[in-house]
Amino acid sequence: MARIVVKFGGTSVATVERIRQAARHVKREVEAGNEVAVVVSAMSGKTNELVGWVNEASALHDAREYDAVVASGEQVTAGLMAIVLSEMGIQSRSFAGWQVPIHTDDSHGAARIVDIDPTELDKRMKDGWVPVITGFQGISPNGRITTLGRGGSDTSAVAVAAAVKADRCDIYTDVDGVYTTDPRIVPKAQRLTKISFEEMLEMASLGAKVLMIRSVEMAMAHKVRLTVRSSFADPDAPQVAPDGTPGVPGTLVCDEEEIVEKQIVSGVTLAKAEAKITLRDVKDNPGVAANIFGTLADQGIIVDMIVQNIADDGATTDITFTVPDSEYDKAIKTLKDAGDRIEYARISGSKGGAKVSVVGVGMRSHAGVASSMFKALADKGINIQLITTSEIKTSVLIDEQYAELAVRALHTYYGLDKKDA
Ligand code: ADP
Ligand code: ASP
Ligand code: MG
Repeated sequence: MARIVVKFGGTSVATVERIRQAARHVKREVEAGNEVAVVVSAMSGKTNELVGWVNEASALHDAREYDAVVASGEQVTAGLMAIVLSEMGIQSRSFAGWQVPIHTDDSHGAARIVDIDPTELDKRMKDGWVPVITGFQGISPNGRITTLGRGGSDTSAVAVAAAVKADRCDIYTDVDGVYTTDPRIVPKAQRLTKISFEEMLEMASLGAKVLMIRSVEMAMAHKVRLTVRSSFADPDAPQVAPDGTPGVPGTLVCDEEEIVEKQIVSGVTLAKAEAKITLRDVKDNPGVAANIFGTLADQGIIVDMIVQNIADDGATTDITFTVPDSEYDKAIKTLKDAGDRIEYARISGSKGGAKVSVVGVGMRSHAGVASSMFKALADKGINIQLITTSEIKTSVLIDEQYAELAVRALHTYYGLDKKDA
């Protein structure tokens, strides 16, 4: 017997029929003698609709009311899932975030889970109940409803798994695991049997939205065994692990030590809509970068890649960085307004960039990955605008129109294409 937390994403609960299909996966686990808790997302498209309504009501809305509205999607699916499970003969009830309770901080719209009280969930599961918990939401110290940021139900699931000391957290989605790259862009992408937490963290932060970054961080910190699998698979089919033995299908996200064959490159990711901004002839003094990026941070603008040139003349330098396209106008205005304090000669930039990255723990011990990546892109005539690296990834910023071409080229170059495709 195991204790399992299962999470169903938006497409897995898109209709009542889909909820019924998801519930059959829960039933199978219960019938195998396991204790199960369920975490659900809103029906796919619902959260976008709710966000749209809030913005229509007022562009300058109170973030606490935004959360009150957008958290409601999960409440619908939690109730429906509990109804469907009960109809199948499984004792079940829904829990909104505040009923568990899932305590968060008060950063509305991007709240962090601080603590989950496992008492009630624990008791229910021991008594043979299946609690169904709303993903994506919690309660602030002031007793207001909070949401965790888009894709946040993954984080809810991992946090619940850690709180109830689950043996496993299964993330059911519309793909049957984590792939070498987004299978919707590259049909030749291959499913990974295992991926390390570190690689998954990089992939999630570089654009692979299959898991929310924070959920991977949390799984890594609390040593939660995390799998990504498909809710579209036949619930009654034999449960076979990717290596053919009985077990959990899909991809296991685990410690690096559990992975025997370490790939140099495990995956390729893509993040579109990246804008580039350059400040020219910035005074080359201590504190200048802190000033620029502090000013942007004060406005809540998240900066990604940063490149600073050597000061050729010993007095001034150029600094280039990227922000999401959606933040471009605000970032330009913020820096223009702060022109007196920051002391630069000119500001320029453009939207419509794409960040393409290759990720792999093998890069730690293999030289030359960056150069081979640049060569593969050059062979396709793709110009590189910015480069950043870390121990296990290399990222480049390119023109968005070449994004898919670049991802496909790199996927092939590093031998990741499915053999029979
Ligand atoms: P859910 O609604 O279940 O949370 P998401 O849409 O958030 O599902 O995430 C699943 C999607 O992530 C897939 O449909 C796929 O297009 C996308 N994706 C991006 N990169 C990858 C990858 N490397 N492996 C698998 N899926 C990926
Ligand atoms: N429903 C929320 C969203 O669309 C949370 C989630 O699906 O994980 O972002
Ligand atoms: Mg998701």
